[in-house]
Amino acid sequence: MNQESQPGHIDQIKQTNAGVVYRLIDQHGPISRIELSKRAQLAPASITKIVREMLDAHLVQETEFQEPGSRGRPAIGLVLDTDAWHYLAMRIQPGQLTLTLRDLSSRALQEDRLPLPLDSGQPLLQTLLEQVNAFFVRYQQKLERLTAIAITLPGLLHAPSGVVHRMPGYDVQDMPLGETLSTRTGLPVFVQHDISAWTLAEALFGASRGAQDVIQIVIDETVGAGVISAGHLLHKSGRALVEIGHTQIDPYGEQCYCGNHGCLETVASMGSLLQLAAQRLPSQSDSILNYTPLTVQSLCDAAQQGDRLARDVIAGVGHHIGRMLAMMVNIFNPQRILIGSPLNHAGEVLFPAVINTIRQQALPAYSQTIQLTPTAFADPGTLGAAALIKDALYSGTLLVKLLQG
Ligand SMILES: [Zn+2]
Repeated sequence: MNQESQPGHIDQIKQTNAGVVYRLIDQHGPISRIELSKRAQLAPASITKIVREMLDAHLVQETEFQEPGSRGRPAIGLVLDTDAWHYLAMRIQPGQLTLTLRDLSSRALQEDRLPLPLDSGQPLLQTLLEQVNAFFVRYQQKLERLTAIAITLPGLLHAPSGVVHRMPGYDVQDMPLGETLSTRTGLPVFVQHDISAWTLAEALFGASRGAQDVIQIVIDETVGAGVISAGHLLHKSGRALVEIGHTQIDPYGEQCYCGNHGCLETVASMGSLLQLAAQRLPSQSDSILNYTPLTVQSLCDAAQQGDRLARDVIAGVGHHIGRMLAMMVNIFNPQRILIGSPLNHAGEVLFPAVINTIRQQALPAYSQTIQLTPTAFADPGTLGAAALIKDALYSGTLLVKLLQG
């Protein structure tokens, strides 16, 4: 991280404390100042000062409430004030751009899904700037004070600088997305990999809420993972995507586009899965897949109807993913593993294959109590971007900017 961008020690403490207080009010509000002081382990005077600044900035508000166990007069508690601040959550996928206006409660107020042509002849950065500008013009009447922009995308990127080195489908080389957008709009801009941000979204709003150690694996056109370790996204300020897709599973396997042989992605991505099913189909005349176009959905439907070929190939993916996860379980010792995938439609085939392989191959002490579940969101949309904003409020980084007005 750039040393010059590091705030001084006092500022850093102020930022962290503000973030902690904001998170406690979000999670426990209405909450009294005394209870806040206890939970945050901060002196009452510090709480009073931080809360006053937040009240002035319309980030929290006071409300009367009955404290648990008390029969006396209602106490004054604090809750978040989320209506006065908006932000833009964006998701870039090959061919599609989603823009969502949200308030600080993460509620979606307006959402547009637009085509993002792969070969428009115009640099991608230019197109994105135009679309953001057009979105703000379109919804000018609805906008409250704008706080930030958060963007998630696939590809190789550096989160702290907001530079996107490469992106699938687009001619992108070291695109200064964060800095350019921030200069144009005057807003802080957060950029993160789509899978890493989805992992955060599940931790804040979804299936891994409350878990301290989590592995989330996404099996789609590519295969990648995010890891939450001791409550924090691993490598959050670096390359948070855990690149399991290019781990060698079979040294004699097919060549991968990365140059290596037998990567996990060559046996577990949706493309490789369909290819394998198509290869086996001619010798499986009893398969119902002979009578329907071969897609991930038709494969899942066939598996649910008991089709042997469909079940075999999906279980095969489960075993490969399970092998990879068994190694990760020994390293990260997670309480919970989440799978986000179109194959979750055939979860009754996929999930047993994955968990049985993990239990066979990982240390029993680590694997016995693991809960394996699907992600809460089948399609996270711009919730990944929303998670980046919530995370930046909880850590204090975005919060201090809002407090400074
Ligand atoms: Zn590879």
